[in-house]
Amino acid sequence: MDQLQDDVIRRVTDHDVRFIRLWFCDIVGTLKSIAISPADLETAFTEGVGIDGSTIEGLTRSFESDMLLRPDPRTFELLTWRGTSNATARMMCDVLTPDGEPAASDPRRVLKDMLARVEQKGLDFYTHPEIEFYLFQEPYRNGRALQPIDHAGYFDHVHRGNGQDFRRAAIEHLEGMNIQVEFSHHENGPGQNEIDLRYADALTTADNIITLRTVVKEVALGMDQVATFMPKPMIEHPGSGMHTHLSLFQGGRNAFHEPGAEYGLSRMGRQFIAGLLRHAGEYCAVTNQWVNSYKRLWGAQEAPSYVCWGHNNRSALVRVPFHKPTKGTSSRVEFRGLDSASNPYLAFAVLLAAGLEGIEQEYELPEGSEDAVWDLTERERQAMGIEPLPTDLFRALESFEGSELMARTLGEQVFEFFLRDKRNEWSRYREQVTAYELDATFGRV
Ligand code: GLU
Ligand code: MG
Ligand code: MG
Repeated sequence: MDQLQDDVIRRVTDHDVRFIRLWFCDIVGTLKSIAISPADLETAFTEGVGIDGSTIEGLTRSFESDMLLRPDPRTFELLTWRGTSNATARMMCDVLTPDGEPAASDPRRVLKDMLARVEQKGLDFYTHPEIEFYLFQEPYRNGRALQPIDHAGYFDHVHRGNGQDFRRAAIEHLEGMNIQVEFSHHENGPGQNEIDLRYADALTTADNIITLRTVVKEVALGMDQVATFMPKPMIEHPGSGMHTHLSLFQGGRNAFHEPGAEYGLSRMGRQFIAGLLRHAGEYCAVTNQWVNSYKRLWGAQEAPSYVCWGHNNRSALVRVPFHKPTKGTSSRVEFRGLDSASNPYLAFAVLLAAGLEGIEQEYELPEGSEDAVWDLTERERQAMGIEPLPTDLFRALESFEGSELMARTLGEQVFEFFLRDKRNEWSRYREQVTAYELDATFGRV
């Protein structure tokens, strides 16, 4: 037992903790949890806790269904909404094989491996997500129109709006769990909200995103509402993105920053963006992993559809936000493609891999674009060398399948399972007869 583990055991006693939940994720980022008693904590640290992983998406092959969970003591926090006496706590876990090796299929491991690769180069990867989601009055029921909790819009202050009460409660729980919130506001769509987390290393951010999704859903239920991170729940309203600001630090210094350079962006920053652009088609299936993700990407309303970068350009896939010369180290890259329903561990791993490829292979950054690329003609976009993102999950999977970079980053097991799982999703979708088809064709033919 090390010092961190001892501290956890002490906090369990101090806070009268009754259950400790061990959290881990399947391949699409769904949170899984088992509860143990304080008496079993020491063994959990030293030996791990055995689980049968056979029914968990992508976690095991049929011949190796027994797995171990080993809690990460740095992630011990109380679940504040469960009360403070007889409390419940959680720790994120690493998934191990029965002989104690990291499981190839654990998404958290995929990110850790990628972070270890950049650490060897003396770099640390930091992320800062803007997480959008919708609040509805009730769950979706077959064919019933969704009822958002309000009809407000971007930055609106809703008098006595329950959205504000909601954000306040959610943020208090997040802060109670040691997750720093930068700011929060009403988003563009009715009932749509955004919570932005403060910069942290990518592993902490990914853990925090998983926690935020749980907190948001719990708080909503407590207020008789329903939260969803679905990328595009309503045709006529914007989707929910998860724009994420990315940066690499070298020896405590922002490696994307160069004083006096255009947009304050260093050569490494330019190469990183070039990597994000060149490999966008390949990783899109991971950053936008659902059939529904492509309804957001191609539904306009501030979501990117084309592969380009810009400064003040909200239609671009990558944006270099306004840089204050006084804030010497703030240069960063805003990736606008991600949606709120991605698996953050895999998404950060593939974005980092693409950016790193740009650095290692010294890609040239193509010219930026300040036009609203949606409004250009096809011919204009072609002349500027601006390619579309995949238009649906099927096309995204085709590029993903052919990508050596993705296979290398995710490892064979995750790569193959992901492909199989997502191809199944596409087949199920393709078989559907949708309300649109009935509306558009039934009476016409
Ligand atoms: N909801 C938009 C999206 O899907 C983003 C709006 C914004 O600029 O924050 O990406
Ligand atoms: Mg937003
Ligand atoms: Mg943004």
